[in-house]
Amino acid sequence: MNKIIWVYIEVVENEIVETSLEALSEGHRLAESAAAHLAAVMIGNDTDRLAETVLQHGAATLYAIETKSADPPSPAGHAAALAGLIRDHGPDVLLFGGTLFGNDLAVYLAAELQTGLAKNCDKLAFSEKGILEQHRLCFENKVHTIEVTPQARPQMATIEPGIVKIGKASKPYRPGGPEIIRTQAAASADVDAGAAIHLGFIPADPRTIDISDASIIVAGGNAAKDVNHFAPVRELADCLGAAVAGSRAAVDNGCIGRDRQIGQSGKTVAPDLMISCGISGAHAHTIGMKGSKTIIAINSDKNAPIHKMADLGVVGDMHGILPELIKRLKTFRTTGTQDGLSDPKMDGR
Ligand code: FAD
Repeated sequence: MNKIIWVYIEVVENEIVETSLEALSEGHRLAESAAAHLAAVMIGNDTDRLAETVLQHGAATLYAIETKSADPPSPAGHAAALAGLIRDHGPDVLLFGGTLFGNDLAVYLAAELQTGLAKNCDKLAFSEKGILEQHRLCFENKVHTIEVTPQARPQMATIEPGIVKIGKASKPYRPGGPEIIRTQAAASADVDAGAAIHLGFIPADPRTIDISDASIIVAGGNAAKDVNHFAPVRELADCLGAAVAGSRAAVDNGCIGRDRQIGQSGKTVAPDLMISCGISGAHAHTIGMKGSKTIIAINSDKNAPIHKMADLGVVGDMHGILPELIKRLKTFRTTGTQDGLSDPKMDGR
């Protein structure tokens, strides 16, 4: 019998979360590799409107569980609603987008169904024996593991956000077109309730956030030899709502804790914006930050390796540039004007 793959579609504020479409695209690729049946399951109060998107992305069947209000959703409530459906239909594989909610829900369900779960996978494939091989990076991305759930079913995985390219299905996946099955949660399942209820998001304090999760990082290096000289790095981070980090030299100088070290013997980071201050760009450091989307490097040596990987390289003295930059950011914040931004003192090239 053909395998059955299910993908849970997360809905937030009445829209499908992008990571769910990534999980669906991975499910579609997997289904094509094994001629499996791909189904999606969605819980919400506007499932009719969203069904078309799910089916366009390759699901042959959509199980839609309509609720009174699914926003904000509860992982325990959704797990209770899904467990019965899963027991009834017995999918071989069950996938989720690896969001905070998707990971929470998957944990509840894995416990409820007494099966295994591999979180934040970057690739999935069936082995020759038809077992799902779940690839993921562990220990700060230093170890690549392949995990399997040999006996229990379904084989459950969440997909690391931002890894899988979203693709629409090129042809209808089910002869006769896709089907939508409207279903009800089991009477005993209170979809909108649970031991833990998600009330909303409170943004994390960038000063204490794990640097691996930070979207903006200001990092300092050996150019600041002590805590006092490192202070402008922290102040710039405060101004920008960024996390502070640094090179190993910054740790050795006592300027930051070891948990804030970027690099080979530290952490791997991938912020949207990295501002690197007085860091040379040694391989052991850059290996931990090369995934940064935009890099601004301030270094007085125009030949420093960090400039080669920077989107914007500022050649100049960070001890002069940072206080000036902080002053102007504060002025901008209070007055909304960018007075003096054309000042040649700021042209650090
Ligand atoms: P430096 O190499 O001393 O560079 C300081 C830079 O600041 C220079 O480029 C200089 O031009 C610039 N500068 C000086 N004064 C100013 C100024 N006033 N204004 C602007 N710029 C200025 N390192 C890590 O960072 N993370 C790791 O995880 C890590 N793991 C390692 C593991 C191993 C096994 C080994 C052997 C090394 C490891 N290292 C690691 C160390 C790494 O090789 C470098 O020695 C380290 O990254 C250097 O830190 P730095 O760039 O801050 O200091």
